[in-house]
Amino acid sequence: MTSPYVGRFAPTPSGLLHFGSLVAALASYLDARHANGRWLIRIEDLDQTRSQPEAEAQILRALEDFGLEHDGQIVRQSERLELYRTQTEQWLNEGLAYYCDCPRKTLLQHGPIYPGTCAKRQLPAAADHAVRVRVSDRPITCIDRLQPPLTQNLARELGDFIIRRRDGVYAYQLAVVLDDINQGVTDVVRGADLLDSTPRQLWLYQLLGHTPPHYLHVPLIVRPDGEKLSKRLGSAALQREHAPTTLWRALRALAQPVPESLRGAPVSELLAWGISHWQPERLPPTNSLLEANLPS
Ligand code: GLU
Repeated sequence: MTSPYVGRFAPTPSGLLHFGSLVAALASYLDARHANGRWLIRIEDLDQTRSQPEAEAQILRALEDFGLEHDGQIVRQSERLELYRTQTEQWLNEGLAYYCDCPRKTLLQHGPIYPGTCAKRQLPAAADHAVRVRVSDRPITCIDRLQPPLTQNLARELGDFIIRRRDGVYAYQLAVVLDDINQGVTDVVRGADLLDSTPRQLWLYQLLGHTPPHYLHVPLIVRPDGEKLSKRLGSAALQREHAPTTLWRALRALAQPVPESLRGAPVSELLAWGISHWQPERLPPTNSLLEANLPS
């Protein structure tokens, strides 16, 4: 019987899938399959200047090599601009969002909190204006299945935030919420680097009058200097011929006690073990894990 659980993995195709992103994908996959749920893949290619078609192909191939089979059609954000445009227009019409033409230089001078310069200006529509959503001066708390609760007051810590950039690209914060709602996602399992974005996303759920998904932010795998693994830092791309050993290590990185005897076992066997034994509560409630401390 299928359960109402719907999970997803939503990579940005700006680089190759490396060990850190495999660990996040695996956590999301195991959580969905353990719950007998569906698992979707969404390609977050909104920023066409950063997206690389070869990275998308490599990510999908790597997921296949690791046996992480998805349900349904793969969705691409670049093909869903209408969804983001319609909502943005609606909020503009309702006065919940407004146009902003503040130059980058001025924004940098103001620091991290947008002072609301354009909030009352009622700028007319223009393709090269950003769009900001109004926030409220109230605490918003993200309850995570693993991490300690995170509370932010968006008005005091961030100000009205961008949902469409000046170059016309819709912001991740907007697209991720609209897509998760549109795709019926009930559970978001992703890297802890996105924990900080969650209160903004919870605010958009409030504006939309929609119940947010359950969240599980898994620790990131980081280097000794605290940087997460990335292509920029030369993290090794995953090798197909090493898939079984890499998957075994990924299970151990997620603090799952996969037995030594399964080291090198076929991917399908490792995944079957992972699905039936999945215990996310074994993960440490931290933002990051040092790559060097992981089992080899
Ligand atoms: N596209 C985001 C990333 O690759 C993940 C978004 C999400 O899982 O909410 O970092």
